[in-house]
Amino acid sequence: MFSRPGRARAYLAEPASSIIARVMPQTSARKILILTGAGISRESGLHTFRDPDGIWSQVRLEDVATPEAFERDPVRVHEFYNARRRALLSGDVGPNPAHGALARLEADWPGEVLLVTQNIDNLHERAGSKNLVHMHGEILSARCQRCGVAGPWSADIVMETPCPTCGQAEALRVDVVWFGEMPMQMDRILTALEACDLFVSIGTSGSVYPAAGFVQEARMAGRAHTVELNLEPSEGHNLFAERHYGPAGRIVPEFVARILRDGLGEKS
Ligand SMILES: [Zn+2]
Repeated sequence: MFSRPGRARAYLAEPASSIIARVMPQTSARKILILTGAGISRESGLHTFRDPDGIWSQVRLEDVATPEAFERDPVRVHEFYNARRRALLSGDVGPNPAHGALARLEADWPGEVLLVTQNIDNLHERAGSKNLVHMHGEILSARCQRCGVAGPWSADIVMETPCPTCGQAEALRVDVVWFGEMPMQMDRILTALEACDLFVSIGTSGSVYPAAGFVQEARMAGRAHTVELNLEPSEGHNLFAERHYGPAGRIVPEFVARILRDGLGEKS
């Protein structure tokens, strides 16, 4: 079902448009689904959550990232996310070459590219990605627990901050998915997993469900080639047909360049 690297190489004397037409005919546009996690943002200056020196080694997730924590101590939860929002908006943080490569893939690939990120930062958008799902929400969004309206938000949230829609104080919360809550747009993600020809997991620990189970969903559908790109093997690394390890800023641009050159072939 995948174009063979050997065949793709044999066409290199032809114009790129001709190669694309023959390897990836329009009638069967190939669908790519990319899942990203904190590892892709590591080189952008953001702390990951699960590394030995990551955020969960400094603060307990039970204290800041659950509905119960927010009920118990909303001030602390607001402060935690306010600090992370300020860090993201500081001049020190920006997209790295891995984010850029995925935006280029979406722009140049003749089929569909859906990017599903577990990250709550906005680095994919800043790099230029457009077909993007934030399955764990966005730190630059706030949601009202009274009227339910969510919208872009870049300021601190404090208890007194009124909801811009209904005016209620003590109702706004950061629009991220806490542990114990349902990830966003799961129907769309599961549909895309069943239909994709290539599933690539980038910079994820493989320990947080449901994202950790996506590779199995893609494999069960029986059509997708599965690839892991990570700093080191994830917990579920042996579920992937192809694996590459190293800094995301190096291995993601390399992988994207190969896909754009050779199509959805096996490892070349
Ligand atoms: Zn409201």
